[in-house]
Amino acid sequence: MASVLVFVAGLVLTIQAFIGLCFLLSSIWEKEKRASAFAVLQFLGMLGLLVLFLVLWKSRFYEAGPGAAVLIAGLILVAVAAFFLLRRTAPNEAALKGTMGHIVGQVKRYDEREVVFARNRSLRPGSEEYKTFYAQHPELEVYDTKRRERGGPLGQVGSIDKPADGPNVAAAMASLSIPMHVSLQGQVKPHPHPVVKGKRFELTPEQATERVKGYTLHLGADLVGITEINPLWIYSHRGEIFHENWEDWGKEIAVSDRRYAIVFATEMDFRMVGAAPHTPTVIESMFNYGKGAYIATQLAAFVANLGYSAAANHLRHYEALLVPLAVDAGLGEPGRLGYLMTKEFGPRIRLGAVTTDLPLVPDKPVDIGVEGFCRICKKCALSCPSQSIPTGGRMEVNGSLRWKLNAETCFDYWGKIGTDCNICMRVCPWSHARTFPPRLIVELVSRNKMARGIFNIMDDIFYGKKPKSKTPPRWAKFNFSGRK
Ligand code: SF4
Ligand code: SF4
Repeated sequence: MASVLVFVAGLVLTIQAFIGLCFLLSSIWEKEKRASAFAVLQFLGMLGLLVLFLVLWKSRFYEAGPGAAVLIAGLILVAVAAFFLLRRTAPNEAALKGTMGHIVGQVKRYDEREVVFARNRSLRPGSEEYKTFYAQHPELEVYDTKRRERGGPLGQVGSIDKPADGPNVAAAMASLSIPMHVSLQGQVKPHPHPVVKGKRFELTPEQATERVKGYTLHLGADLVGITEINPLWIYSHRGEIFHENWEDWGKEIAVSDRRYAIVFATEMDFRMVGAAPHTPTVIESMFNYGKGAYIATQLAAFVANLGYSAAANHLRHYEALLVPLAVDAGLGEPGRLGYLMTKEFGPRIRLGAVTTDLPLVPDKPVDIGVEGFCRICKKCALSCPSQSIPTGGRMEVNGSLRWKLNAETCFDYWGKIGTDCNICMRVCPWSHARTFPPRLIVELVSRNKMARGIFNIMDDIFYGKKPKSKTPPRWAKFNFSGRK
């Protein structure tokens, strides 16, 4: 019996030392200096414990009296800790209902004309649209005028890294042109290719779901889910004008027969996001918008070629709000910072979608513990340079309970630095690279309330309450002197 207990204790200590080593290697690989330093201490402590255990075992300490008592007490302690840390705590029933679980009042459909980018791009001073809009929203005119004077929501792109911003701005703008190239009406709502025109492929919802999900992942998406569209998340009026289609501005958007949304996410590179708010992060955002447009355009064409109606949703054409659709499609939960939080990549993603009348099998919303974790953690809010993220609880916004980001002050900050900032995304404990230890931690916090509290504290110890920005890959460095 004693030898079995010794074996189990040895195994437990070896496993914890192994996890400690993995965490150390992961921190070094992530170039997290502070976490690496703490990880060295942690690993040495774990290794020391294992060595001490083996020395005592060699000297037959555990075979009788106090040694056996220490061994048994230690194992009981481990078993109790494991029980409390590994068990699945009560599910968050509201999260499992998706966006419907957060609705507490009257929800009005959002008007795309009110979106900050639409205001900036589509309201030309002196135009009819401009007069109509600001007559109804005089409080926004001061903000928007200031923003226009600065050069738009991103101000002078790359200004934070001047005078060495040039190549990074060039890269970001290269990607930004992709959604524009594929946003004409015939591209976002494609017709079938002549080769398959007139045919409708009869697929069962299960077969169609397997096809579209597989194809989406094949095109380069990292996550994909399906939802039956709640009409509340479709914009009420068109506000974005990209191709001189001025007659569209203010047009009511009908709730169409496209009842399903195929929603997908692409992962943003953690090294590029790690340099936020500097220019590598805006390269990464634009790259993922470009990638999203590429995926959504082909996916919409694929569905059209199957004989069904399809509309691509990407940076230069949105019919609906993608975060609520993604929540209902089971990709994740909304976080304090206002983005979707996924189990796989945290908020380090960009979303795209295709809406369609092709009958599909919807996914179910998920409870991955985000609400409970965000309630304790306030890292994004404390790190936000414009104090745009609330530190308090969720509140009712347009009939839904959520954390309300102050979009106006956030975008003002973007305008000052010339990038899309992303500090909140960088500091989020769910944004770490998906090596083995962070995967293990997210698995634990997703299922267990106690783990949320413990890992919140640990993240502060290992990474700091306000983690610093990291060096980007060499090719995207911004602190050089190559600009003329
Ligand atoms: S992007 Fe920057 S300014 Fe905006 S909420 Fe996040 S941290 Fe704050
Ligand atoms: S930083 Fe913390 S509070 Fe903010 S979204 Fe991430 S987990 Fe939630």
